[in-house]
Amino acid sequence: MKIVDLKCAVIGENPVVRVVTDEGIDGYGEVESYKPYLKPYVLFYKDMIVGHDPTDVERVMNRIRRMGSFKPWGSAVSAIEMALWDIAGKAAGVPVYKLLGGKVRDKVRVYNGAVRFKLPDYSPDGFAEIMRKMKASPEGFTLIKQGIGFHSNMPERVPDFFFGDTHQGFRHPNRGLLTEKGFKHVIACIEAMKDVLGDEVGLALDCGPGWTVPDAIRLAKAVEHLHIAWLEDLITGDYTPYVLADVYRDITRSTSTPIHTGEQIYLRHSFRELIETNAVNIVGPDPCDIGGIAELKWVAEYADLHGILMAPHGTGDGLLGLAALVQVSAALPENYIAFEYPIGDPSWWYDIVDGLPNPIVQNSMIEVWDRPGMGVNLIPEKAFKYLKDEDKDFFD
Ligand SMILES: [Mg+2]
Repeated sequence: MKIVDLKCAVIGENPVVRVVTDEGIDGYGEVESYKPYLKPYVLFYKDMIVGHDPTDVERVMNRIRRMGSFKPWGSAVSAIEMALWDIAGKAAGVPVYKLLGGKVRDKVRVYNGAVRFKLPDYSPDGFAEIMRKMKASPEGFTLIKQGIGFHSNMPERVPDFFFGDTHQGFRHPNRGLLTEKGFKHVIACIEAMKDVLGDEVGLALDCGPGWTVPDAIRLAKAVEHLHIAWLEDLITGDYTPYVLADVYRDITRSTSTPIHTGEQIYLRHSFRELIETNAVNIVGPDPCDIGGIAELKWVAEYADLHGILMAPHGTGDGLLGLAALVQVSAALPENYIAFEYPIGDPSWWYDIVDGLPNPIVQNSMIEVWDRPGMGVNLIPEKAFKYLKDEDKDFFD
């Protein structure tokens, strides 16, 4: 089998990759909805993979893997990797998890991820209110993650939150030392959420990036008695093109609260210091940023050897990304906790794919399906009308 074409279309907001072969089998990959600008970067790799056998996934990946980088620039390579596995599974007539070593679990746990409710305000009552809604949502989440601190609008919305200058905009532009008032506000909001969730539902907190080391240690110690599932990306994280493993290690060593990072990190090599020095307790790569599902599995296995847990990121990965997360999570070792659940957005995404169970999530779990490849496919006749004019040849 040979690859004859590599295509990319932005469907809704998600870039979708299609790898076309000479045997009538095609493979799909999808990356985060926040990255519609990626299309030309996907096409950059076309000449490097056309003519090669897509079922020799690793051999094809060796041609392109070194030409990616930290989030968002590893997404194109990641989407191609997932499309190759999709083809390999379809060609062999088996679900992708079989090719990754086989199923370790029949159901995979997920946490809320893209299931969110609008925060009425940044008060403890506001946070309690969205926790009540989240706890009542039909997916029955047993673990809920909420953004606080620099991974929220607290720097702009809470008066005198920190000592730095406040910057507006996306992708976490603020960083600095918290005021005592700001710090106490964060703690009050966490306590309010725990009051709602009790010990029935776990609470993880996405915190940054942007915290200083002393505040990070203060926070981690202050919530030790609240049994928080993890504190995510305190120092580096989302859209930080480096890791700072030694800084994370100082924080992790100082507390019993689990420390988590990794969603922006590209390739196993960039996880090496984090894992080998036990700089965090949990790693959370995104298959759509790390370089693909086999790359994520490699990191999960290596983390497990070092007593580090795995909770993959995935909030914006869309429904094809969801399929990839299910396939790889089925095959991860016992250090697997849960992955961050992506949804179809806009909701017509649910009409243009087949293969998903209904409902998808029950009691916080997704049953692993057995269809060949990733098991979720675009339906060309239904997806066509959502293609932009420049992408009308996507299914040709
Ligand atoms: Mg995060």
